[in-house]
Amino acid sequence: MTHRFHQLVPRLFVVLSFLVTLAGVAVASQQDQPLKSITYRLAMTRPVSHLFEVAIEVELPEGAPSSLDLQMPKWSPGRYAIFDFAKNVQEVQALGGICPRLAQCKMSVLPLQRIDDQTWRVSTINTQSLTVRYKVFGNDLSGTFSQLDSRHANYNGHSIFMYIVNHKPDPVKLEIDPPAGWRIINDRSQRVDQRSWQFPNWDELVDTPTEIAPDWTVDEFQVDGKRYRVVVHSFGDEGGKRPAFVRDIEKIVRAQIAMWGPPEFEAYTFLFHFAADDHSGDGMEHLNSTQIIEPGALGETGIYASALGTASHEFFHVWNVKRLRPAEFGPWDFTRPANTRSLWVAEGITNYFGHLMMHRAGIWDAAQFLRRESQTITGIENAPGTALMSAEASSQMAPFIDGAPEAQLTNIPNTAISYYPKGELVGMVLDLIIRGKSNGKGSLELALRRMYEEFYVNSPKATYYLRGRGYTPEDFQRVASEVAGVDLSDFFARHVRDVETLPYDEAFGYVGLRLVRSVAREPYSAGVTLDWKDEESLMIGSVRNYSPAEDAGLQAGDEVMSLGGKNIKRENWLLALGRYKEGNRIPIVVKRDRQTIRTTLVLGLPDRFEYRLEEIKDATPAQVALRQAWLSGR
Ligand SMILES: [Zn+2]
Ligand SMILES: [Zn+2]
Repeated sequence: MTHRFHQLVPRLFVVLSFLVTLAGVAVASQQDQPLKSITYRLAMTRPVSHLFEVAIEVELPEGAPSSLDLQMPKWSPGRYAIFDFAKNVQEVQALGGICPRLAQCKMSVLPLQRIDDQTWRVSTINTQSLTVRYKVFGNDLSGTFSQLDSRHANYNGHSIFMYIVNHKPDPVKLEIDPPAGWRIINDRSQRVDQRSWQFPNWDELVDTPTEIAPDWTVDEFQVDGKRYRVVVHSFGDEGGKRPAFVRDIEKIVRAQIAMWGPPEFEAYTFLFHFAADDHSGDGMEHLNSTQIIEPGALGETGIYASALGTASHEFFHVWNVKRLRPAEFGPWDFTRPANTRSLWVAEGITNYFGHLMMHRAGIWDAAQFLRRESQTITGIENAPGTALMSAEASSQMAPFIDGAPEAQLTNIPNTAISYYPKGELVGMVLDLIIRGKSNGKGSLELALRRMYEEFYVNSPKATYYLRGRGYTPEDFQRVASEVAGVDLSDFFARHVRDVETLPYDEAFGYVGLRLVRSVAREPYSAGVTLDWKDEESLMIGSVRNYSPAEDAGLQAGDEVMSLGGKNIKRENWLLALGRYKEGNRIPIVVKRDRQTIRTTLVLGLPDRFEYRLEEIKDATPAQVALRQAWLSGR
């Protein structure tokens, strides 16, 4: 079928556009009138070009406005930086009518205007249906971006599919045309040859990451009658570890269900890529699935462990963030970054429970779990940003700190902390304080379960997007206080909204543990960190404010050539520094652009500490019982 543009006589055109103009006055009330149908078609006829081919077919209702705006999101939930997916969109065109699949149609070109960096406006005058086509380049294997190459197509819908402005709530259909021999899988796939899906709205379409390749494989297990799939696309040797890997995933799922109760979905899909490229790594949560990408092969011990740790974190998001969510989290405005004070809850507390669940699943022993938390404490307590940025303020920095593009030099290493480790520690300390103050009757997990019931399950649906409503920081504080049986507003004021050091001694004391601080290996303070991105040279990555390095005039980007008159390489940097002590004056030579700079570094007092959680030998039975309940969840 071709479009109907030619069949319309000019007189009708005038009448129609007059009606459309009248309708346009009442546009605010008519915006929600759904379109008759929206179908997304995805093809990939030349995988090596990395160009996904998208067609959006729209049937218009009577009285539709005279134009539709289509918009490419600027970012994707889960990673809050602006990426401007529109930068990879090319060859956008609008055509009158809809051409049936495999048919050859002669379609007229509709007027199309790019009205800003992310928006295209198509005229709908004189047509009852239209097709917008474009290509989008994708060559990043990541939970945020998409990749099409000779091996596979793997996409995050936000980076591929434009939405129709004011019509995100409308139902949409997806049809995928894969290259010959490639099979499609996502969390809604019922059959291996399935090529079309129906979604209640655009948000769920893009919350359904999809893998298309000839050679992915899948394992399945059931928990309480629900279906779990572990899809793996491996680019490296698995070393025979797949069966054990799937069993460990099942243990993680069971441990988390023991905490939360039955999940809402009927089926859940883990999509793993073992990229074996030494750089791709990510984990991204979705409503009924997760994308996990590891830089190595499953056969490598560290990669196996890392993939499980990520799976534990992402599966916790099934409840915390995908359903129980901050008030600002959906429906989303993709024209500007999301802003919430609650990412320390959404991500940080997920980090904490991701680790605790590795223990409860039987994959880490208690000592491993405590070691992991000690490492987080060491990281946070040594970070200069800890003294300057609260957990809530860190949440508001999300668009700048979590994988954000960095074209501009910043002082973020000195001023910011990440809401992941900071929220992890606030969550752990809060958990122990609730347990201690309530004599074991309350816990953070009880608070989370109550919030899930109150805000997700039982609140009236606030918008078209998901059940219930989001929570505010005040809601969270209230529920935490309720389960603790005491008012926690002072804790939140000091440790969530301000930067006061967490009450570790009190918190760990309740469970018969003690936090031991010792001076880190280096018996001095220089105040520099090396640039981790450049592993070849001895490049200074950041200089701590008010540090000996700053006093010596050193800058980020300087390349260290010699220390104490001796040439130096990256491998022996710490060793070389370790020969000196506080107060020593050390000649240092750095290269800055084309200049050679000679200066003197005067080392300061040791200011880096290591933290270790230890059992108190004479802990009371009550303390030991609280610790057991915390670690085991029983
Ligand atoms: Zn793949
Ligand atoms: Zn997360």
